[in-house]
Amino acid sequence: MSETSAAVRPPFLANPNKGHFIDGKWQPALTGETIQTFNPATGQVLATLARGRKEDVDAAVACARRTFEGPWSRFTPHQRNALMLRVCEVLERNYEELATLESLDMGAPLARTRAMKNGLIQTVMYFASQALNWSGTTVPNSLNGNYTTLTLKAPVGVVGGIIPWNAPLISMWWIMGGVLATGCTGVIKTAEDASLTVLRTAELLLEAGVPPGVINVVTGLGSEAGAALAAHMDVDRIAFTGSTVTGREIIKASAGNMKRIQLELGGKSPDIVFADANLDKAVPGAAMGVFNNSGQICSAGTRIFVQRGIQEEFVARLVDYTRKIKVGDPFDPASQLGPLISRRQLDRVLGYMSIGQEDGARLEVGGNRLGAQLAEGYFVAPTVFNNVRNDMRIAREEIFGPVASVIPFDTVDEALKLGNDTDYGLGGAVWTSNVGTMMKAMHGIKAGKMWINCYGLADPAVGFSGTKQSGYGMKGGAQHIDGFLYEKSVYINGD
Ligand code: NAD
Repeated sequence: MSETSAAVRPPFLANPNKGHFIDGKWQPALTGETIQTFNPATGQVLATLARGRKEDVDAAVACARRTFEGPWSRFTPHQRNALMLRVCEVLERNYEELATLESLDMGAPLARTRAMKNGLIQTVMYFASQALNWSGTTVPNSLNGNYTTLTLKAPVGVVGGIIPWNAPLISMWWIMGGVLATGCTGVIKTAEDASLTVLRTAELLLEAGVPPGVINVVTGLGSEAGAALAAHMDVDRIAFTGSTVTGREIIKASAGNMKRIQLELGGKSPDIVFADANLDKAVPGAAMGVFNNSGQICSAGTRIFVQRGIQEEFVARLVDYTRKIKVGDPFDPASQLGPLISRRQLDRVLGYMSIGQEDGARLEVGGNRLGAQLAEGYFVAPTVFNNVRNDMRIAREEIFGPVASVIPFDTVDEALKLGNDTDYGLGGAVWTSNVGTMMKAMHGIKAGKMWINCYGLADPAVGFSGTKQSGYGMKGGAQHIDGFLYEKSVYINGD
């Protein structure tokens, strides 16, 4: 091991007291209050952040509004596109620092945060291309007279972004990409447990030439800063990524000015393995489909449905694979999984590990916190439960930890019925060599995203959205940009 989380200290943390980033400047909370953010690998305080309240959100939104109406509104699509390409260069140049900060702050192995570089740059580049690709249409009409009818598109205005801690950097860009491409402005409220990469990115954007005030960042608690942003009467749109419970609060809070909302929420995705699947691919695919990022991925394939004929062999191989997964310090190059994000999340995941056993599922491997040199951090063993029933709590509730539930089934119809028996509709996967089964599953699973003989791939041009209680509104893809625009119909009398 070359370095450890305890020793790594990027220059951004030379001053560990961070304010909000509003109008291109660091600003303490107006009340002077602070919160602390912790290194999940060591349990030690990493930095002190501003505790934003309504007054801070008001200041950030007022700045975003002023900026939206100022010279920024006169940037042409080509200027915004060029600006975003400069942003890509700056992100690329500073990526190692961002990866280091993200690993320190939320605990993902550095190998993982480094590997996310291409995806991040491609995402921003994709949104940069969208800056040149939105327009209204001229519409033929049936009116009596010399009328020309057309539609115009225009930026909605101030966009509030409320993001989670499990991948803050990319989560920020799913919102900021649309903001910059359309000429909106943004106020991002980070998750209390992981704000550092977003704050550093906001600073870097100035270096790329993004005018101050286009992107503002407010830190603090969800119930305070988050709730104030969601309810703000001068915010035109909220893009929220987080839990379904909070998503409901966002819907209620947005009612005041009927702001537009886009919600990406929780999941309990089915990953269905048929007896004719190539197990050399299905076993590691299903394992990392649930364990990646220590299970802290919204579309994790937490319910692994396995056809009964191969259950024994599949579980034996899954357990063997799981035992070999290296959990360790995020800065150890051998680590595949790091810690959970927080003490709270640790207690929650350990709680579900007990609930699974109490409810009668068979614990095959894991089920415990990791001790020895990892005892100070929030590390747990990747865990496999076998013979889970789909009505058990571990199969119904989002755990957001490395816990796989293997549920046996007999027929295709039964697998689809059980897979869809959930409140969520985020992702789903099927492993099979039978084209007919693939097609049935592709059409039959009610989810915003399906993987066939693979798991977890994402591409900004393809985009995704949830269904059922996993939310709505496209992230990525050609329609992504529409969320940042409103459309106006125009009737012109030519006489
Ligand atoms: P969370 O809902 O607790 O918090 C998400 C964000 O909302 C944080 O910034 C938090 O401060 C803020 N928040 C909390 N209460 C609020 C309120 N009343 N009003 C406004 N904002 C509030 O979720 P989390 O625990 O940080 O993240 C994990 C959840 O996020 C999981 O459910 C996961 O599935 C989901 N998630 C979904 C996606 C997706 O794309 N569908 C991606 C990542 C995470």
